[in-house]
Amino acid sequence: MQLIDTHAHLYLETFSADREAVLQRARDNGVQKIFLPNIDGGSIAGMLALEIACPDLCHAMMGLHPCSVDGEVDKALDTVHSWLQRRKFAAVGEIGLDYHWDITWKEQQLLAFRRQADWALEYDLPIVIHSRNATADCIAVLKEKQNGKLRGIFHCFSGTAEEAQQITDLGFLLGIGGVVTFKNAGLDKVVQQLDLRHLVLETDAPYLAPVPYRGKRNESSYLTLIAGKIAALKGTTLEEVAGSTTAQALRLFGYDF
Ligand SMILES: [Zn+2]
Repeated sequence: MQLIDTHAHLYLETFSADREAVLQRARDNGVQKIFLPNIDGGSIAGMLALEIACPDLCHAMMGLHPCSVDGEVDKALDTVHSWLQRRKFAAVGEIGLDYHWDITWKEQQLLAFRRQADWALEYDLPIVIHSRNATADCIAVLKEKQNGKLRGIFHCFSGTAEEAQQITDLGFLLGIGGVVTFKNAGLDKVVQQLDLRHLVLETDAPYLAPVPYRGKRNESSYLTLIAGKIAALKGTTLEEVAGSTTAQALRLFGYDF
């Protein structure tokens, strides 16, 4: 069985004491690739070091997270752009809009999202979208930028079936993580209605660990719990979920298989 973790921040400090063991457990559980979303200028060095340490498993993205957008947005975007010019990344991410904590920099978030979507088109890369309390605005930006070539993942999707439909109609995949295992989150009922061919798996480690590890540090090996829950919801096998989501993820990130 092969699994792909399309979203994990394994370069963060919370993994520094036992990162090797975390990666080994991922391999032991069938995880073939782990895609690392960048956050901002402060996370690049650690992320690239992890990619260098295990180039067969870990693949870096480049982008500016909406929660790291402030009045210095132009400077932060310059850093992202210089890296995109310098080498190839798996995707532009994570980028998007987050109105949950703070809307002080809403205009700057929109500017950063639009500019990074333009770079993804220019460099022919997928985008990995972070959206929190901002689904309508995110979808509007995607509609505005979609020229037939824009593609990517709506990371940590937890919206309604109608929102899922709008997102997949735009050619985007839905990243499903630990929230699908949470009681009362409602995502389980939505996933039941979704076609497997629109779904990819993610952990968002160290955040959003699936049941029975909810509230604890998440890691890529827990992908089996997420895939197992989706299989149960869809009335299919773990192998079927693994095969479908892995094929979608590899196709999106441009790997031949
Ligand atoms: Zn993330």
